[in-house]
Amino acid sequence: MRAMVLNASGSALRLDDHRATPPPGPDEILIRVRACGVCRTDLHMVDGDLPLPKLPVIPGHEIVGAVGAMGVNVTRFRKGDRVGVPWLGWTCGECQYCRTGRENLCDRAKFTGYHLDGGYAEFAVADARYAFPIPDGVGDLEFAPLLCAGMIGFRALRLAGDAERVGFYGFGAAGHIAVQVARHRHQAVYAFTRPGDTQGQEFARSLGAVWAGGSDERPPELLDAALIFAPAGPLVPAALAATAKGGTVVCAGIHMSDIPSFPYELLWGERVVRSVANLTRKDGEEFLAIAQEAGVRTRTTEFSLEEADEALAALREGRLEGAAVLVP
Ligand SMILES: [Zn+2]
Ligand SMILES: [Zn+2]
Repeated sequence: MRAMVLNASGSALRLDDHRATPPPGPDEILIRVRACGVCRTDLHMVDGDLPLPKLPVIPGHEIVGAVGAMGVNVTRFRKGDRVGVPWLGWTCGECQYCRTGRENLCDRAKFTGYHLDGGYAEFAVADARYAFPIPDGVGDLEFAPLLCAGMIGFRALRLAGDAERVGFYGFGAAGHIAVQVARHRHQAVYAFTRPGDTQGQEFARSLGAVWAGGSDERPPELLDAALIFAPAGPLVPAALAATAKGGTVVCAGIHMSDIPSFPYELLWGERVVRSVANLTRKDGEEFLAIAQEAGVRTRTTEFSLEEADEALAALREGRLEGAAVLVP
């Protein structure tokens, strides 16, 4: 099969067009990949921001495809079923986190496209217990960004509590989905983009943001919560300054540049700063149900498998509206 492979931290992906198609283990399905979303986490891997537990590795954890073969223990799916594979690829089921409904924090968790080869390839294997069936009526490309950007955005939104006014710092793949879910939940979204990105601000307003401006601006009203999707530490004090007493600032990315020191006054008043890490399978199921109910539509830009580095460059430079998706 053809696959885009990361051989070393901080290097470009390389095409391997003679890679052996992986055989599915007893609990696994073999998937013919039809689309795979490009996530900022992939960019952090390529840019050397994250430790890499497995090298070489095939990135990609927003996989949409069709089941081609199954291990002996798999009963959930049949050949030809359309499935989605998210970031959470395996958990131990035994640790204190797994036993208390927090498998997203499992010490031994394996993540797709990180510990496990992912979807930047023609075929991928995945543990069937962590894959999602995909409903009819939504295209492969359109569905892919729901599998991480959508699910993580949803978890971040929920961790922000019942906020009426929610700020989004960064309005990319996750933001453009979460704004639609927030609207459905009758929450008002204030979108902050890179200063001067009027096109991004227009995009946010077109999807229902009540206000959009640069991250250096103050919103017209204080926020009840803020979600930080952009990987920039200085946004934490900025978001705290824009958030009312008792509000929560949620850092939604896996990596962020250092947070500068800031006066305690910004945190005072029972403001909370927290991160969101990974997802549970339950989050995924709940999000997919609400996405369908809310009629969430995603904006995607298609790239071929061989164009993976180009897609990552477009993401790095903020040139994308919505999400990049690879089609092998
Ligand atoms: Zn992701
Ligand atoms: Zn565990």
